[in-house]
Amino acid sequence: MKITGIQEASLPIGSAMRNASIAFDQMTASALAIRTDQTRDGQPLVGLAFDSIGRYAKGGLLRERFIPRLLAAPARDLLDEAGLIDPMRCVAILMRGEKQGGHGERSGAVGLLDAALWDLRAKQMGLPLWQCLGPSPGGAAPSAHIATYASCGHFTDNPDPQALRDEVAQCLALGYTSVKIKLSGRQAALDAQRLRSALDAGLNPGQLAVDLNGQWDKHCTDALAVLAEYPLAWVEEPAAPLDYAALTAFCQIHPGPVATGENLFSADDATNLLRYGGLRPALDRLQMDISLSYGVDEYHRMIEHALALGWTRQAFWPHAGHLFAAHVVAAWGLGSHESAPDASRLYGGFWDGVPVIQGHITLPRYPGVGFEHKANLMAVLQPLC
Ligand SMILES: [Mg+2]
Repeated sequence: MKITGIQEASLPIGSAMRNASIAFDQMTASALAIRTDQTRDGQPLVGLAFDSIGRYAKGGLLRERFIPRLLAAPARDLLDEAGLIDPMRCVAILMRGEKQGGHGERSGAVGLLDAALWDLRAKQMGLPLWQCLGPSPGGAAPSAHIATYASCGHFTDNPDPQALRDEVAQCLALGYTSVKIKLSGRQAALDAQRLRSALDAGLNPGQLAVDLNGQWDKHCTDALAVLAEYPLAWVEEPAAPLDYAALTAFCQIHPGPVATGENLFSADDATNLLRYGGLRPALDRLQMDISLSYGVDEYHRMIEHALALGWTRQAFWPHAGHLFAAHVVAAWGLGSHESAPDASRLYGGFWDGVPVIQGHITLPRYPGVGFEHKANLMAVLQPLC
């Protein structure tokens, strides 16, 4: 099999919503297709990928450095002994000439290519991706039935508290049992009002998580007191992503679960988080993003290292909420899958017709990731194929 071309596009995915840190109105994402000289069941064999959300598209890095590097490699160097595309060999080629550390946004460009290579490999095998990812760190059996939670409740220009309540209620109506909303981390009165609005939708506090997007610091004692009023499911990213002293301080004060890691992009950074972040393996959650962090093999290393430090694989709740991440959760028995509940968004919902039932989904058996069965996403991927 030969790769005959790689096409990428930067897509606008912006909308008028904000978290405590950034606005999403100018947000973009990369879509990518790896074409080959092969067909399967009469269809061209193409590997597809769509970005994680929250970092911008990576077109420059892909076009100038990583796509040419992959296309220049001899075809045989990209395959395993069985003639299947080998994402780990490909990533090693992508990383030739790249210095250690300083991961920047190259980790997302490599992660996007890694995702498309895995989609391609699974399609070669005629299997859903979750059956092709290899043994779980820790030895869990793969299962198509996974937990998921809704990530919503961004800040908007609508000041009506009822709007947040309605949004959370809609998640419950869709079948989710756990919902995450955004808080400021700094304005106690605002955060108290938003917590009340979300809980008014019919949740108990143990079903509600809150995301501070790195905006809390030790001076925000009133906001911390608001959080302490409820036994929340978890508090997400209370401190700035690389401020491990601040995260440690928060963990020492806040008795409930903490989740973080979505803005770390390498196994090196994840190691530092586990060493210096003050997290508690029996209580907290790790949210490193697979496709923003060089891809599957790097993520596997993060989990293996965490297991050696006393964590469980169920503590891994990967960030992003895209279809690719759901396969990794299923393959390796991870804790839960983040989901943007609005299926009309390119990054929202699941495969068409796959429902959320009591906070779980069952992955379909389409070969690869199954992008071909989410119509709005496929509409933007098809022109690249
Ligand atoms: Mg978050």
